[in-house]
This record gives sequence, structure tokens and C-alpha cells, in this order.
Amino acid sequence: MQKSSTITSALNQESPLFSVEFFPPKDDAGGRRMLETAEAIRPYSPNFVSITYGAGGGTRKTTMRYARILQDEYNFEVMPHLTCVGHTVDELLEILEDFAKAGFRNVMALRGDPPQGEDVFKAAAGGLSYGSDLVELIRKHFPDFGIGVGGYPEKHPEALDKTIDLTNLKTKVDAGADFITTQLFFDNRVYFDFVKSCNEAGIDKPILPGLLPVLSLGQVRRFCKMCEASLPAALEQSLTQAEDEDHPVIGSEWAAAQINELLNGGAPGYHIYALNKPQSTLQILESLGIEKTAA
Ligand SMILES: Cc1cc2nc3c(=O)[nH]c(=O)nc-3n(C[C@H](O)[C@H](O)[C@H](O)COP(=O)(O)OP(=O)(O)OC[C@H]3O[C@@H](n4cnc5c(N)ncnc54)[C@H](O)[C@@H]3O)c2cc1C
Repeated sequence: MQKSSTITSALNQESPLFSVEFFPPKDDAGGRRMLETAEAIRPYSPNFVSITYGAGGGTRKTTMRYARILQDEYNFEVMPHLTCVGHTVDELLEILEDFAKAGFRNVMALRGDPPQGEDVFKAAAGGLSYGSDLVELIRKHFPDFGIGVGGYPEKHPEALDKTIDLTNLKTKVDAGADFITTQLFFDNRVYFDFVKSCNEAGIDKPILPGLLPVLSLGQVRRFCKMCEASLPAALEQSLTQAEDEDHPVIGSEWAAAQINELLNGGAPGYHIYALNKPQSTLQILESLGIEKTAA
């Protein structure tokens, strides 16, 4: 029998939750780096870790393989991601069944991006069109799963405006999502405004802020362009003025300062986009005074 979601209950507790996101590695060397990162982070006992589902739906096996390793060998509460890209409903149900059999209790339900070279998302024949369709499917067939969905404080790039995007987010939540994890952002006002707008729109689920510790100026510019996230002038200036090798430290300090302010402002926790690298995440945890609680 499916055990109930611990993420949802952790998000509703007083003490802030902390989670880390991995992505499925491309090869064995990448896999080793990812697991070294997991090993380095494990003593800090994150409430959960998540592992993404690769663009184009092509990482079904790798996402599953590493999600199992993270759960079975590293004892993490693991939330695999799943996207609608390229999958029929039957395939999505098969994957969800595999998740349940493997012991996962949570899933991050996403539509996904159009495959490379395509501008517009097209549902697969017999597949689903929106994140909300996937949430509905999961809720119907796997009622005990904790379901996370993506939220976009600066609006999803395809949405015409923030109001429409918020209405669509509400549909996703009403379909049965338990919590929202945000797209990366570097200016906390963006998060606080988003939470306020969500509340006003009747979205009452926890909104977990997603933070990216910047590694380089080129990287942050690329990510901001891709997600249409704004890059604060102060952060851009610090990175521009510093030597390249100092960029990761600036990135971790910025993220740690963001987290402090977010928690003081009532955020239910923080989700770190670790990009399979340990250093920045460890620096953030140290700077926040998080202690090791496991061997
Ligand atoms: C926390 C997080 C984790 C992510 N993990 C992954 C991952 O593992 N793999 C991956 O490939 N990508 C991932 N992404 C990226 C995500 O797949 C893309 O942002 C994708 O373009 C949107 O997915 P969604 O589920 O948010 O889409 P949706 O909620 O379906 O929204 C997509 C667009 O459609 C609009 N829309 C929604 N419903 C309707 C409707 N009923 N009618 C008209 N328009 C509608 C929305 O406003 C939005 O513009 C992640 C994003 C976030 C924030």
C-alpha cells in the first residue's frame, strides 16, 4: 500500500523545510558526481530530494534508476519529476505505477517544455496537454501521492500575462496539487508578490521557493533568459566586478541571503537547485547554520 506524503506534512509544520534538486546524469561519470553530491548533502538531512525528468521525456529509465539509488542507498525521501512530453496516458500511468511500486510517495507533475527545435508544446497522440491534466490523472489513479507542481513568480514564458498564468495555476491546484515549487528567482520581492497574488486568487497551498546558487555570470544570464527571470543589477554588478573563480561564492552568499529573508517573511522552506554539484549547497547550509544531523 502507498504510504502517505511526508513532504506535504513537512511543508505544513512550523520548522522550515529544506530540499535539494538533482537532474538525471548523462553518463556514469556524471552519475558518480551526482552521487558524491548526494553523499556530501546527506548529513544535513534534507526533508526531501527531487530528481528531474529530462527534456523530451527521454530520461524515464535514468530518472527512475537514480531516484531509486537516492531512496534505497542514501535513504532520502525522493520526489521524482514526471512530464507529459511524448507520453500517452497509458505510459504515464505505467510510470506512475513504477514510482508507486518503488516506494515513492510524491511526484512533481509537469507538462514539460516543447522538444528541442519546436516552439510550441504539442501533446502526444493519446497524451496530455497541461500540467493540470497530469495532476488530475495522478489524483484519480494514485490518490495517496503527494503532488507538487511548478509555479512561475515572474510568469511562465508562454503565458500572455500574470493573471492568465495565475488562473491556470489555480486550475492545477484545484485539480489536486498539494504544493507549488517555484521557478528560480533572484529578487525576493518577486516571490512575496507572487504569494500575495496566489492568496488573492484563492490558491492556499504552500509555495516552496526554488533557489539557484549562481556559478557564473554566463550561466545566470543564460538561465534568466530561458526562464524570463529578472537578474538584479546588484547581483550582476558583483559578478561582473569579481574574478570568475569567485562567482560561486557570490552566488551562494546571494542565495543564503535570499533564504534568510524568505524564511523571515514566512516562506515554508527552500528548495535548492544544486545542479548535481555539492559546493554551493554546502556553503549555503553552512552560512544558514544548518548542522549535520546524520552520519
Ligand atoms: C519546480 C519546477 C520543476 C521543473 N522540473 C522539470 C523537469 O523535471 N523536467 C522538465 O522537462 N521541465 C521541468 N520544469 C520546467 C517545466 O516543464 C516548464 O516550465 C514547462 O514549460 C511548463 O510546465 P508546467 O507543468 O508548469 O506547465 P503548465 O502548468 O501546463 O503551464 C504551461 C503553460 O500553459 C498555460 N496553461 C496551463 N493550463 C492551461 C489551460 N488549461 N489552458 C490554456 N493555457 C494553460 C500556463 O499558463 C503556462 O503558460 C520545471 C519547472 C519548475 C518550476
